[in-house]
Amino acid sequence: MIRYALACEAGHAFESWFRDSESFDTQQKAGFVTCPACGSAKVAKQIMAPNVARTDRDRPALPAPAETASPPVEPTPSAPVALLTEREAAFRELLRAVRRHVVETAENVGPRFAEEARRMHDGLSEFRAIYGEATLEEAMALAEEGIEALPLPSLPDEHN
Ligand SMILES: [Zn+2]
Repeated sequence: MIRYALACEAGHAFESWFRDSESFDTQQKAGFVTCPACGSAKVAKQIMAPNVARTDRDRPALPAPAETASPPVEPTPSAPVALLTEREAAFRELLRAVRRHVVETAENVGPRFAEEARRMHDGLSEFRAIYGEATLEEAMALAEEGIEALPLPSLPDEHN
């Protein structure tokens, strides 16, 4: 079993278990992997980042008395909505930073993305960092050819 951190096109972050990476690919292509928040089947593997240390860790490691109502440090599946929102906000901020980095350092090839990725893969173009637009069909075709192209989900507040 393998656990993937996923995100939908609206930026909702969630996690799901799969038998293996092939199983994820198959289910994703078939549209069986959907966002629990909005039901979108346009999901992608999240870009992973180290768990950001919380200020809570500076507390003494002694167990808190039972009568002290302290919030849980680690999120659980039944975590309150506020905590999920906090994690979602942190994820969106991370996504924004990654997108900014890609936009600043990679060449925008626009709708020629699939074509350029294929040319680079075949050695017809110099290998470089690129980004651009690809249809789901193009992305699937690239994946079948063994060309890795991870989509950066768009954020709703970035649409003009
Ligand atoms: Zn969603």
